Amino acid sequence: MSMKLGIIGGGQLAWMMKDAADKLGVELIVQTPSPNDPAVSIAQHSIFAAVDDAAATEILATKCDIVTFENEFVNLAALSLLEKQGVCFHPQLAALAPLLDKYEQRCYLRDLGLPVPQFLALSGEKKLESQIENLGFPVVLKARRHGYDGQGTFIIPDFATLSKIVNQTHSQFLVEEFVPFTKELAIIAARSVNGEIVIYPAVETLQKEQVCRWVIAPAQITQEQSLQIEAIAHKLLTSLQYIGVCGIELFLTAQGKILINEIAPRTHNSGHFSLDACETSQFEQHLRAVCGLPLGNTRLYCASAVMVNLLGYENSHCDYQKQRQQLANIPQATVHWYGKTEARPGRKLGHITVLLDQDQTNGVEDIIHKIESIWYPQ
Ligand code: ADP
Repeated sequence: MSMKLGIIGGGQLAWMMKDAADKLGVELIVQTPSPNDPAVSIAQHSIFAAVDDAAATEILATKCDIVTFENEFVNLAALSLLEKQGVCFHPQLAALAPLLDKYEQRCYLRDLGLPVPQFLALSGEKKLESQIENLGFPVVLKARRHGYDGQGTFIIPDFATLSKIVNQTHSQFLVEEFVPFTKELAIIAARSVNGEIVIYPAVETLQKEQVCRWVIAPAQITQEQSLQIEAIAHKLLTSLQYIGVCGIELFLTAQGKILINEIAPRTHNSGHFSLDACETSQFEQHLRAVCGLPLGNTRLYCASAVMVNLLGYENSHCDYQKQRQQLANIPQATVHWYGKTEARPGRKLGHITVLLDQDQTNGVEDIIHKIESIWYPQ
């Protein structure tokens, strides 16, 4: 009998599990707000409810063997009652608990001895000026919960802007030093039920307006930096007793220092290259890990790979057939189109991966430029 996996969230991250689920004989059941969400088309069954609706998760749990996450904006306290009643969550809720609030996540990483930017939680009790006096401007202000794709993250140039945002918004905030990084990096790691850990090559990512535009695998960094990043992933996943795939975003500074920016307890945009460029994609790896199967090989097939997000740039119901066809004609390219019914500026509508041979690795920038000039209106 096939394994039944419940997924909280039915966006593109769940949608991209389809091929792996077919290959491994895993049935997918999703809990997602809308019938138009990408993974509804590939799931055997869908429950239409918000991801933080624990009553819906209780129903989901009756239909599957294990529940996993493609979205971490859940109600952990309510899910804990289900876990106590015997619902099997992978990763377990104890592994998610320190990660969901950005301030608590920073504290957890710091207490483990992992490198993070200087940070603090803003308190309504103390004068704002005195709280941030050690950081200097610019600072980075982050909503402690529910931030994604830069929503809830603000780079603040001066005190007036900081106090305006803090006073106008009712969220709880984390404030941290602005890191003048030379590169943003990311790594995907997976840990199995019995503690085996596998790690993908570290990648370089580029964010514009805090949204990921492209990813190059592998990152051009020193071997020592790669080993340091792998050691971070090992320590973190082991400490959390994590089960599943996890994305780790990092900064590389001009002095060659690595700092952790953020942990995503799920598959991650920076690992999409693995669908086309690796023997085992991050999505297959996640299914393997959470279903108790042996983990797969994370090696790159090719010298390098570039992944470019196809982000919405207008409000539209267009399916962009013409641009997609032009993109698909790029040699060694695969276009992944998430089937969203509505485009909005900044929304992730799809992505394209191009595999590169050794002699093409210097041409990565040209390829990114070509893709973006086909995709975005001139
Ligand atoms: P989200 O959870 O919304 O993705 P992040 O914390 O990952 O938010 O921030 C989004 C982007 O903002 C990062 O990829 C980076 O480009 C920029 N950023 C975040 N924190 C800092 C920082 N401390 N210093 C400099 N840039 C930052």
